[in-house]
Amino acid sequence: MNCPYCGYSEDKVIDSREAGGGIRRRRQCLKCGSRFTTYERLQPASLFVIKKDQRREEFDRDKLLAGIRKACEKRPLPTGTVDKLVDDIEAELYQGGKAEIPSAVIGDMVMERLKRLDHIAYIRFASVYREFADITTLKQEVDTLLSAGAETSPSQLPLLPTEELGVVKSRRARRKRGRVKIRSRT
Ligand SMILES: [Zn+2]
Repeated sequence: MNCPYCGYSEDKVIDSREAGGGIRRRRQCLKCGSRFTTYERLQPASLFVIKKDQRREEFDRDKLLAGIRKACEKRPLPTGTVDKLVDDIEAELYQGGKAEIPSAVIGDMVMERLKRLDHIAYIRFASVYREFADITTLKQEVDTLLSAGAETSPSQLPLLPTEELGVVKSRRARRKRGRVKIRSRT
């Protein structure tokens, strides 16, 4: 760790304490005397995701984050909601202590949380992730959500302005016509 002020490579540790599962060290540069702080975290053991076609890929937090961000685009969610959601999932995955996780399990974890958070984000994520074969399957999912309306919390954002569904519909139709297969992103 080089000094952030002068770039010198040696420093001394003047204080060291545990913080949030890692170690926080207060350091002083031996050249310019500036003080700065470093946080050290134990690198968790690698976690591999097993995809539908049985390929293995190292778990990629950024990829998961990007997929969920996309689903939550322009939804009125408080700042930090998506990061927190990914933090939760990541923590749960590592705490589970398994070296390999099927991508379907991660997808379900995301959907379960999005369902509680925002129905539109949920539908968007599910339509990519589950590769809804046609509009009927998608409609069934929406109907299930609607009929479960009584169980949802009062803080739940209102479900589907119709134009939103229209967008999903026409995109789907275009995809179908073009015979483009939409791959799951998890
Ligand atoms: Zn320095």
